[in-house]
Amino acid sequence: MTLYHDKLKQLDHNCLWHPFTQMQEWMAEDPCIISQGDGHFLVDVHGRKYLDGMSSLWCNVHGHRKKEIDDAIKAQLDRIAHSTFLGLSHVPGIQLAQKLIDIAPKGLRRVFYSDNGATAVEVALKMAVQYWQLKGETQRTRIATLAESYHGDTVGSMSMGYSETFHRFYAGLLFPVMRLTPPHVFRYCQGLSEADALNAAVKEAEKKIEAERDTLAALVMEPLMQGAAGMWAQPAEYVATLSEVCRRNGILFVLDEVATGFGRTGKMFACEHAGVAPDILCLAKGITGGYLPLAATLATEEIFSAFLGEYKEYKTFFHGHTYTGNPLGCAAALANLEIFEHENIVEKMQPRITYLQKRLNEEFVSLAHVSDVRQWGFMVGIELAEDQASRKKFPPEKRIGHRVILEARERAVMIRPLGDVIILMPPLSITDDELRTLLDVVYDCVRAVTEE
Ligand SMILES: *Cc1c(COP(=O)(O)O)cnc(C)c1O
Repeated sequence: MTLYHDKLKQLDHNCLWHPFTQMQEWMAEDPCIISQGDGHFLVDVHGRKYLDGMSSLWCNVHGHRKKEIDDAIKAQLDRIAHSTFLGLSHVPGIQLAQKLIDIAPKGLRRVFYSDNGATAVEVALKMAVQYWQLKGETQRTRIATLAESYHGDTVGSMSMGYSETFHRFYAGLLFPVMRLTPPHVFRYCQGLSEADALNAAVKEAEKKIEAERDTLAALVMEPLMQGAAGMWAQPAEYVATLSEVCRRNGILFVLDEVATGFGRTGKMFACEHAGVAPDILCLAKGITGGYLPLAATLATEEIFSAFLGEYKEYKTFFHGHTYTGNPLGCAAALANLEIFEHENIVEKMQPRITYLQKRLNEEFVSLAHVSDVRQWGFMVGIELAEDQASRKKFPPEKRIGHRVILEARERAVMIRPLGDVIILMPPLSITDDELRTLLDVVYDCVRAVTEE
């Protein structure tokens, strides 16, 4: 096995360029090479097992090699692996669309497939902008977004979810957007209380949106939790109020639930916590149970109908990808949704969410170098800082977050940080014992690394 590992390692180091990875460091280290999955565990080529505490980058839902999803994909393979959705339809694509509409927030009636989160957001962006062009309100071309949001790595998605660290080299390519300041910035950067921060964020959003209500096409936001930018939580009222502000000013309300969708926050969709439904909804990550790259952008009938006309009017939504609506992905997604239904997944999560919350609040927040803990359901960010009270960061060269996850890996738990924020994103079906192990290990590792 060691020989096998070394051969693969050499090939990896010679041939590959990994995403979001400083390859100089990567090539100086021993890679962990996964060969199998087993329930909530990953298995490497040495046969070592790791608890998948990050749901394989936030997308796994019911564990690996879940029989029902495996079987659905195998059955679909025996029919057809791929056939185009451009000018043709197929069985699992139709069935999945109906299922998605059944469970989606009220008013969403049309499903447009793509391949990943970034494309789901690009589709939403183009739909929103074209919608207003077709409606004759041609001055509505601008997009409002939240500061410190993340919507993916394609050019449109980067424009909307700009991160200085990730995207500064492409700043010249990106289109300008209106950025609203979310509550956490008021809270942490200006030291306001939770209630005052919410108030300030709402006031600012109302003012900025009203001032430019005639040129805005849409507000695009991650509801409840701004994930990849560092797990920044919002109160549900913020989502509810922004939805209201959009309605009042006649602009489209677009939710990117790529990360928060499919039970992640403790309800099927995060917007249910706020009691609102968007005009356009972006879904990816958990849609196939974490099996295959598939995404969907859902829209209201009002938006859809604006695109109707004779071909010669050229109102068509000219957008698509070769693998749009891939049948294997649709079959996996259908099986995923059936499991949600048959196993009451969201209901069964509730006591474990409470347990998670209790342990975070009772144990983690009092650690010397934990400066904040943010949680919505099974989305958790544990922020580490050199000084707890002032939130003074550790010097980046210390790579504290990275060291915590390496320490956890030694103890058979796989997680991935966002800088010095430790992220916990367990599969929704994680058992009580496994969740306890995840928390025990992360607690010990945070202490071992930060209090050494
Ligand atoms: C991950 C993520 C994306 C991008 O999805 P990809 O599948 O990686 O392109 C977009 N929006 C949010 C909120 C995400 O968490």
